[in-house]
Amino acid sequence: MCGVFGYVGERADVGTTVLSALKLLEYRGYDSWGVAVGGDQGFHLRREVGKINGATLSLPPSRSGLGHTRWATHGGVTALNAHPHLDCGGQLAVVHNGIVENHGELRQGLIDRGHRFRSETDSEVICHLIEEALGTGKSLPAATASAFQLLAGLNAVVALDSRTGEMAAAKLVSPLVAGLGSSGTVIASDALALRGHADRVVYLEDDELVHFSGDGVVLYDRATMTDKPLHSSPLPAATGQIELGSHRHFMVKEIAEQPDALERLATTSQAAVEELAAAIRHADRTFLVGCGTASYAALSGASLLARIARQPVQLAVGSEFGQQAPFVTDQSLVVALSQSGETVDLIEAMLSARSAGARLAAIVNVERSTLDRMVDLAVHLGVGPEQCVLATKSYTAKVATLLL
Ligand code: GLU
Repeated sequence: MCGVFGYVGERADVGTTVLSALKLLEYRGYDSWGVAVGGDQGFHLRREVGKINGATLSLPPSRSGLGHTRWATHGGVTALNAHPHLDCGGQLAVVHNGIVENHGELRQGLIDRGHRFRSETDSEVICHLIEEALGTGKSLPAATASAFQLLAGLNAVVALDSRTGEMAAAKLVSPLVAGLGSSGTVIASDALALRGHADRVVYLEDDELVHFSGDGVVLYDRATMTDKPLHSSPLPAATGQIELGSHRHFMVKEIAEQPDALERLATTSQAAVEELAAAIRHADRTFLVGCGTASYAALSGASLLARIARQPVQLAVGSEFGQQAPFVTDQSLVVALSQSGETVDLIEAMLSARSAGARLAAIVNVERSTLDRMVDLAVHLGVGPEQCVLATKSYTAKVATLLL
C-alpha cells in the first residue's frame, strides 16, 4: 500500500500543496516519500527516506506536481527507489501504488530496447512503458492506457508530463479518487487528501482512465479510449478533525476520541445494525473477514455472536480467505471489517465471495471506499479519519458494532 497525490491547476505553490496532502496519506506508506513538480527543463524532484510528517519543502513554483508516500515492496528503502520515478528523458514522472507482478520481463524488454533504469523498483517500468508509447505518437492518456494494459497485478498509476503539465491516471482495485475544485484538479489514493482542494469527487472505476489538462478533466473508458460522462458526487462531509491539535501523536488523539465516537455510533447506526443482524439470521453461513487488527475485531465478534446471539460464524483472515472459498455459496453472507475499505487482500476476498453469489456486507469506516461501494449493505463506523497506522478507535468501533 502507498499514498499518491497529484495536482494540476492554478496554484503556484504546488510543492507545498503536494507535501501537505501526502502528510494526510502517511498512514498508507511511511518508509520514504517524494515530490516532483513540473518545470520548463523537466522536473524538480525531492525524494527522502524516513517520515514525511515533519518535512518541509522548497521547490520552484509550478502548475502541476505529484507525490508519493512509499511502503516498499520491490527495491530497498532508499531515496533512489522512492517515487516519483522519471523516464529516460526526465520529462515524465510516475507514482505507483501496488505491485507490477510481471516487472522482471517488462524491465528486460525495456533494457533490450535501450531504456536506462535508475531504481530497483517494479514501478519504474511504468514510466518507460509510457515513454515508449508516447514515442509512437500517442497522447498521454492513450499512452498511459496502453502501458497500464501491459501490467499484471493490482495497480494504481498517476503520470505527469512536464512538457504539457497534463496528468493521466488509471487503476485496477488499488484506489484512486479524483477531485474537482475551483482552482485545480487533484487525484489521490484517499478522499481524505482532497479536503481543501475539491468540492466534487470522482471515484475512479477499474475500467476508467482520467486525464487532467489546462482544458479540463476528461474521463475515458480505458479499453476503448472513448470519453464518458464524469460521474462526480459531492466530497463527503468531514467527520472529525484531521489536524493533530494539542495532542502529541495521532494515536493519542484517536484514543481520546473513542468515547464520543462510540456514543455517536451507538445512536446513529441502529437501522444499519438491525439490517446486518437480519442478514446474519437469514444466511446459511456467515463469514467475518478482516486483515490485521480488523481480524482481531472479527475474532471478538465471532465470540460475541456465539455467546449472545447464538449465531455460529466463521472467521477468515483476508489473505487466507481462499481456504474458505469452497464453502461460500449464494446462501452465504460475507461480512468484511475494515477501517480504510481499501485493503487489497480484503477486496480480493470480497470479489471471490461475490463471484460465488454470496451476499456482501461491510463494517467500514471510510464511506464510498472500494469496499463500501461493492457491498449490499454496510454499517459505517463514522469515527472520523484514523491517521495513525495503529488502529484504536476503528477497532473499538468494529467490536462495538458487533456487540450491538
Ligand atoms: N511496488 C512499489 C514499490 O515498491 C509501490 C509500493 C507501494 O504501493 O507503496 O515501490
